[in-house]
Amino acid sequence: MHLARFPRIFLAHLPTPLERLDRLTKELGGPEIWIKRDDCTGLSTGGNKTRKLEFLMAEAEIQGADTVITQGATQSNHARQTAAFAARLGLACHILLEDRTGSNDPNYNGNGNVLLDHLHGATTSRRAGGVDMAAEMELLADRLRAEGRRPYIIPGGGSNPTGALGYVNCAFELVGQANDRGLVIDQIVTATGSAGTQAGLVTGLKALNAGIPLLGIGVRAPKEKQEANVFALAQKTSEKLGCPGVVARADVVANCDYVGQGYGIPRADTLEAIAMFAQLEGILLDPVYSGKGAAGLIDLIRKGQFSKGQRVVFLHTGGAAGLFGYDAVFAEDRKALEV
Ligand SMILES: *Cc1c(COP(=O)(O)O)cnc(C)c1O
Repeated sequence: MHLARFPRIFLAHLPTPLERLDRLTKELGGPEIWIKRDDCTGLSTGGNKTRKLEFLMAEAEIQGADTVITQGATQSNHARQTAAFAARLGLACHILLEDRTGSNDPNYNGNGNVLLDHLHGATTSRRAGGVDMAAEMELLADRLRAEGRRPYIIPGGGSNPTGALGYVNCAFELVGQANDRGLVIDQIVTATGSAGTQAGLVTGLKALNAGIPLLGIGVRAPKEKQEANVFALAQKTSEKLGCPGVVARADVVANCDYVGQGYGIPRADTLEAIAMFAQLEGILLDPVYSGKGAAGLIDLIRKGQFSKGQRVVFLHTGGAAGLFGYDAVFAEDRKALEV
């Protein structure tokens, strides 16, 4: 297992901190809660896509790309980090934004991540919800090639075996940090969407034979589909890494009970989790991913799923830039604070 064999552009601020959350731990009265701060990867407000892009952008450069194309939801954190990484490398960046929520809110459509996409100089085009976004990216790439450009397509969320290497790396980094300080981790919990984060993590953990279970909290697909997506990508990632078959189907566990009405639509417990992290720990979550992941973590602790002596690490995948596209969902709570 030698990650240095894979092309990579070192840009993320690593290692990200591993911190204990004392006030949240006390509030919930369950296991010791730790946080792995991948919201602090350092690129344009940070987030989990930066680790994946270190490997994806290296591949783009090797292929001689002058343009990158990617896609995501309107408030995509992946799109924002791709736009910033492309700016850093002097590549053109075109983003296809899928309207998955049908929101007409001007902040949802123009503030937050969308504002930052444009500040980084990326161009954006909108597509209706449910459109085949992979096919749309291919069409755009064909058009650009006809104009003499050299586009490189990054899949949604940066989730393919190349991007997942970023989270193999995170697994190695986290286990190394825990070993260095004698911290026994009993469980890792994180949000799971396009699957690259969970697939890379589970591959890295199994390749190390770490014996640390990983739970993904789903933000979109139902459990069966999410687990199948993660497992398929973990299999390909372990092949790429040189340890085929290291991940068993049973190693891939997702809980999709916290999605609510759908992708990008926060539930009451999403907002409660955001408020708890903000007010107990001074840490910002987001309404699409990390807020749902943390809502799952909090609920499972309240239900007694983890015992008091255990140590649970919440991998914070970032996303706080999206808060500025979702200010309307906090309007009621904020009224009470205007004294
Ligand atoms: C993309 C994203 C996730 C999900 O990661 P996947 O690799 O797509 O499963 C979680 N949190 C945030 C903030 C994200 O932007």
